Amino acid sequence: MRYLALALVLLTGCATVPAPPLPTTAPCNFGLALVNASLWVQLASEYDASAIQTYNAARRAVDASVVAGGEKPLAVILDVDETVVDNTAFEGRMVRKGITYDKTDWQQWVSESRAKAIPGAAEFLAHARARGVTPFFITNRDVSEEPATRKNLETLGYPLGTAEDTLLTKGEREEWNTSDKSGRREWVASRYRVAAVLGDDLNDFIDAHSASQQERDALVARNAAEWGSRWFILPNPMYGSWESPILEGTKECTALQKKIEALDR
Ligand SMILES: [Mg+2]
Repeated sequence: MRYLALALVLLTGCATVPAPPLPTTAPCNFGLALVNASLWVQLASEYDASAIQTYNAARRAVDASVVAGGEKPLAVILDVDETVVDNTAFEGRMVRKGITYDKTDWQQWVSESRAKAIPGAAEFLAHARARGVTPFFITNRDVSEEPATRKNLETLGYPLGTAEDTLLTKGEREEWNTSDKSGRREWVASRYRVAAVLGDDLNDFIDAHSASQQERDALVARNAAEWGSRWFILPNPMYGSWESPILEGTKECTALQKKIEALDR
């Protein structure tokens, strides 16, 4: 009888191991969600390799466009944050405060002009310039943040236009007072042949602000031919528009709970 009971315990134990229930309230330190992602970008050699790989591929696209020739001059379009500059030091500040983002803290960080270079970016930009290709930076940093951003990019040795403004911030023109970067991309494309677009967010390539999770996947799939040929994406595991369909407008602890639940989808 004792053996039968033991066998039953073993059998039921082996049949299904129920997953531990999700905590009903997430640990209320939302900032901790950033630790692994920020460390990976900041310290992992694998991150450096990914960025260099992306920039090397973009360099080949630039070279091919130079050889192909054309009427309009050549340009490349680059996002700024987590594309050419690394803001992990800001993320570290957020982790220490137990949050993921604070507008005032962000403005303070931007004003310091201390963001570091993304590996491969400086070499790519120098190569483009040497080939007569104009880099345009399209960023959703606000126009009020343009001087500090310009200073940061110059400190890193990135080429900024002298003949014309090549740092296109949000709100710099009335029609550019939107997070949708399409208008600014079209403005560049109306005057230049765009050899490559580089970014860390889907919105750096195509507007996906109101897209659902399924629609985002469909946008990526529909543009499969662009990835690695004209569009080049860098990894950003810390933040991005990919979070919006998961979070559905929630913040902090509720948002963390939503993310934990999303792992089951
Ligand atoms: Mg970015």
